[in-house]
Amino acid sequence: MTDMSAILDDIASAMAQETGRGRVADYIPELGKVDPGHFGIAVVSADGSMASAGDAALPFSIQSVSKVFTLALALGQQGDKCWTRVGREPSGDPFNSIVQLEADDGIPRNPLINAGAIVVSDILLAERSVDEAVEAILGFVRRAAGDEGIGVDAAVASSERDTGFRNRALAHFMRAAGNLHHDPEETLAVYFRQCAIAMSCEQLARAGRMFAFAGHTAPGSAELITPARARRVNSLMLTCGHYDGSGEFAFEVGLPGKSGVGGGILAVAPGKASIAVWSPGLNAVGNSKLGTMALEMLARETGWSVFGGL
Ligand code: GLN
Repeated sequence: MTDMSAILDDIASAMAQETGRGRVADYIPELGKVDPGHFGIAVVSADGSMASAGDAALPFSIQSVSKVFTLALALGQQGDKCWTRVGREPSGDPFNSIVQLEADDGIPRNPLINAGAIVVSDILLAERSVDEAVEAILGFVRRAAGDEGIGVDAAVASSERDTGFRNRALAHFMRAAGNLHHDPEETLAVYFRQCAIAMSCEQLARAGRMFAFAGHTAPGSAELITPARARRVNSLMLTCGHYDGSGEFAFEVGLPGKSGVGGGILAVAPGKASIAVWSPGLNAVGNSKLGTMALEMLARETGWSVFGGL
């Protein structure tokens, strides 16, 4: 593990030298207050050990990284029925795009763009109140991370609720098309709060173990999701996890990954590691600029790739 710590220290010092750090998202005003100077990275390896560097213990807004946890939870509860309401194809469009929804009769291309994740939040609202759905999501993430301290950042959640007009447009369109089963405001109340979950890189890397290790959080532990579901979520992360930057991320990093506009990325080296990285500045398509660079370095150093050797 000392090797991994040394690799991560090298990556953190290389990132500290970077001057072009991207742009912090400010369309959710509360996110715009975050210092772009942060950088953190954490890796949980197959033996369960953790290595980290930089601001890896500092919580940040996980935003769209939450979409992989809500998807795993919804698949566990409703199974393949979920796929009647959301597709599995990359969209090639920005995360908040509305343009395909009308042509596709209100069925979002995949669960990792906003429209698709809003449908997944709606699925999790079945037989639940908004508070119960949020508690179910938090309970799942806490269990995955083995950390009861994880919660929602109320200031970020209300900042997004106050400004989330585009997400409202997506939700109302899908409601009109019959693909939302609840009051759009209730579905969005779940969605905004799941996006506002705050976690550190160390907590996020722990929460991602179920995807890296075929449903398990530790060697020999009970499965949190089935190995088949872990594999499917990983395939979606690879093809759709970075929106219209997914092809580039697969090309440069070669691992399934899910980004969020808070600057976090969860990446998965199946059977080898669960990796979380955070740097708030984003590239042109809304993915963490230094986070992506750091993962490229890590993939190069370790040889991890789902596509074979370097
Ligand atoms: N909460 C954000 C939104 O809906 C999530 C987007 C993201 O992280 N890409 O706009």
